[in-house]
Amino acid sequence: MSKLVSFMPQPFVGEHMLSVIARWYLLTGKDDKRALNSLSSSAMQLSMKYVHHPMVDDVLKLYGKGIARHEALTEHTGLPYHAPLTKYPELHSIIQQEKYQGCFSKNRRKIKQTSTPTTRYNSVLKYGDVWRWCHQCVEDDTEKLGMPYWHVAHQLPSTVRCYKHRETALSVKCKCCNFEIRDLRSALLPPIDNDCYACGEQVSPIEFNSSDALNFIENASFDLLNLCGDLKSHRFNYVMQRGLQNYHSRLLRRYKTKAVFALDKEQQRFNAWLLANGLDIFFHQPDRALTGKVLDINHGAYQAKNWPPLSVLLWLAYIGEPWPKLDAVA
Ligand SMILES: [Zn+2]
Ligand SMILES: [Zn+2]
Repeated sequence: MSKLVSFMPQPFVGEHMLSVIARWYLLTGKDDKRALNSLSSSAMQLSMKYVHHPMVDDVLKLYGKGIARHEALTEHTGLPYHAPLTKYPELHSIIQQEKYQGCFSKNRRKIKQTSTPTTRYNSVLKYGDVWRWCHQCVEDDTEKLGMPYWHVAHQLPSTVRCYKHRETALSVKCKCCNFEIRDLRSALLPPIDNDCYACGEQVSPIEFNSSDALNFIENASFDLLNLCGDLKSHRFNYVMQRGLQNYHSRLLRRYKTKAVFALDKEQQRFNAWLLANGLDIFFHQPDRALTGKVLDINHGAYQAKNWPPLSVLLWLAYIGEPWPKLDAVA
């Protein structure tokens, strides 16, 4: 086991744990993906579709005291971004690595188990479970560290630009051959010079419209990821869980018996606003998203935890909800 540990690379700043696993695999020099089984019995796709990936716990054990679990979860996975909208029992189980079983207090018991929930609406969100990179970060990292790596902050489905190079759009898909990366086992490192792994043509970065709304959504997304403190009492829990619900309640109170019509009108206005700002960029099929539960005010207002962070952030941008300032919530 110790031989294995000596092989485990130290995560780079802001590197995703699955990227570290991909680099470990690269270092072994093996070309059989089954080598991953020696890291974890739950070895599987190195995919973004998990809020907490099943392999991460096993891999962290290999580091022993080398990396604190809290630090790994908060700095090297997207968990802080998802935490405010993750259901409490799942979040508790990820943090404490224990779960409660049984409904009634007398037969309720604690078992050692970690939840591995998947992210919501993956098939609807365009950037839900696809790996993205910033070509400028690839250049900087290669110069500084000798290789590029997959950054957590490039994988937030509610962003299109880099958190470091704020005007640089992320890259994701080759227009020539439609190549994209859903499993890091097929692309251990981000492509150098944006050369497509499949056809060799240049991958062009995402095209987007700049707007205040997009700035709000992206800055809020990076704030969510940048956790200060406890995952359970995330400083943005209130605005993420209650922001839209409060707005919805105000509409109900104001329009009383006509509330159904007022809410319908509000939804239409939101849909028009979203299209006018080019924010349909976040969805595979915008028409379906605009008429589906993923953006339906009545679906998200009562239980925001049914939604992905993107849906809440879009609505908060639309209603002009002030995003809590860091010093105000600290
Ligand atoms: Zn960058
Ligand atoms: Zn290609």
